[in-house]
Order: sequence, then C-alpha cells, then structure tokens
Amino acid sequence: MKAFKRAESNGFIIPDLTLESAYFENTNCKILDGKKLSNNFVQQSQALISARKIPCLAVILVGSDPASKVYVNNKIKIFKEAGFLSKSFILNEADYSEQDIINLIISLNKDENIDGILVQLPLPKKYNSINILNTIDSHKDVDGFLAHNMGSLATGEFNTAIACTPFGVMVLLHAYGIQLAGKHAVVIGRSNIVGKPMGLLLLSDDATVTLAHSKTKNLKEICKSADVIVAAAGQPEILTSDYVSNGAIVVDVGIHRKIDGKLCGDVHSSVKEKASALTPVPGGVGPMTIAMLLLNTALSAWDLINKKEK
Ligand code: NDP
Repeated sequence: MKAFKRAESNGFIIPDLTLESAYFENTNCKILDGKKLSNNFVQQSQALISARKIPCLAVILVGSDPASKVYVNNKIKIFKEAGFLSKSFILNEADYSEQDIINLIISLNKDENIDGILVQLPLPKKYNSINILNTIDSHKDVDGFLAHNMGSLATGEFNTAIACTPFGVMVLLHAYGIQLAGKHAVVIGRSNIVGKPMGLLLLSDDATVTLAHSKTKNLKEICKSADVIVAAAGQPEILTSDYVSNGAIVVDVGIHRKIDGKLCGDVHSSVKEKASALTPVPGGVGPMTIAMLLLNTALSAWDLINKKEK
C-alpha cells in the first residue's frame, strides 16, 4: 500500500489478520475488525516509543457538543494507552473569540513539545472553521485536512499526514488481504475529510473509483456494479442489501445514534446476507480513525527529529 510507506519507514507494519478472520453470525460475511487492528497499532506505538521522543497531541474542543466530548475523550484514552502525551484545551464558546483560538494555535505551532494539533469538529457556528484550521502548521496537521497535506495525497507523494478515517479504511482492507487493483470501488460521499481522500487512496492502489454524492443518479445501479463500497453519506442505514452485489466488500463509515440509544452506521444489517466482508458499527472504522491519529502524531514527532538529525 503506497500511502503506508511513511509509516513503514518509521517502523510501523500492517499486521496480517487474514488468519484470524471471524464472521457475522449465520452468514458468510467476514467481520473487518477495526477494534482488533486499532489495538495492534496501540501496541506497535508502545513498542516503537521506547527509543524515541514521546509524541504529544494538543486537542482543542470548543463548545459543549456531547458527541464531540465523547470523541475527544476516546482519543485521549487511546493516546494514554499507547504511552503518548496529550494536552487538552476545553474552551467555553462564550469566552473565546475566533482570534483567541487562532492565537492559541499560533502558540501551539511554536511549541516544540507539541507534535500534533487537533481541532475537534464541528466548531460552533459563530466561528469560521476554515480560518481556524488554516492556522495550524501543516506539519502539525495530524488530521491531514489542510490543503498542503491533501495535495500531497492527491499527487501521490504521501510524505505528510493522511486524513485519518480514509487512511484507517485502507489499512483495514490491507490487513485483511483485500486486493484493490482493478476493482470497482464506489465511495458514497465526497466530503473533504472522508469521501475525497478515500477516493484518492483507493485510486492510488489501482482501484477504479466512482465518487457518488447526493446528486448522483442511479446510485443503486452504480453500487450494484461495485466490488467495494465505502458508505460515507452520513445517512443512517441508507445502504440496504438491494444496493449490494453478492460478494461485495462493504465499509461502513457512518456513525449515528438511534432513538433507542444504540449506534448504527450508513449500512443496513441486511447487507450482511450479500457482502463477503463488512465493517461493524461500532468496532470498525471508528477505532481505525483514532489509530491513524496516533500514527500520524507519531510520524509528526519522529519525522521532525529525523529532519533535525540530518
Ligand atoms: P458530510 O455530511 O460532510 O458528507 C456527506 C456526503 O454524503 C456528501 O458528499 C453528500 O453529498 C453525500 N450524501 C448525503 N446523502 C446522500 C445520499 N442520499 N446519497 C448519496 N450521497 C449522499 O459527512 P462526512 O463525510 O463528514 O461524514 C460521513 C459520515 O461518516 C457521517 O455519518 C459521519 O458521522 C461519519 N464519520 C465517521 C467517522 C468515524 O471515525 N467512524 C469519522 C468521520 C465521519 P453532497 O456533497 O452532494 O452534499
């Protein structure tokens, strides 16, 4: 996998999970276990850290969105498990102007003890998210959202951080030995943080890629012609079994809380009867997103040291 070369040169590997495959109950559909793979990256990080600088992530959370709080806490917990450091800035919306947040980011850019800066999205509406995100030093953009880092992905250089969710999907597919060359991959969604980088990553591994979106006509027919479907529309259980061909590989990026409190994705449970492999929700793409944040922060810390030593 071309996009993994920067991680490989820093000692990370993609483990082979093909022999450990488990299946959804009463089906021939393999579970692509993101939790297991994420744990493996936590262990790899712990092992690699011993001889190197301990990476440190700064997390900025503004406002009181309950889901954002949960995401931030999960990230901090995994960083702790890996032996990494994190520094949280939990800011009250009423007390902080856009310029205050920009000034905070400028100071974190200069701070040599900080290797990565994450601004938890979405920000409250009063802020211009683009202005705030664009203040982050591209080397510390461990989310891989900035134009400089998206450009490195688009040109296939892969020498900067790659957006964590699509990167995690690619690593998961590789760990389960799923070959992409020549396959038709359909990505439902074209956002800057999931759909577009997902399409570019699949393309870099020689898949033939279709990016679908809300204006796409004949989505069902397009999906039926896919060998691989990545559902990232942000619509609960939109992808039902009649969109999926027998044997297709399906990745569920969506995450939604139902009225009964349970989590679901963009993929309906009926898809298990047709797909040959599927990511569960929870336990699929979510943990892989955090694992890739860990990896991007480690690479940010260790690449800087490598550059100083040269
Ligand atoms: P966005 O809302 O930014 O983008 C959704 C995309 O899906 C848009 O491109 C939109 O099209 C398209 N879309 C919406 N409805 C349809 C439809 N009916 N048919 C076809 N395409 C449609 O979402 P994100 O990309 O940020 O996130 C997608 C999902 O992934 C969300 O559920 C989010 O919660 C989840 N997520 C999960 C993560 C994880 O770690 N598991 C991390 C990040 C996101 P258009 O551009 O035309 O509007």
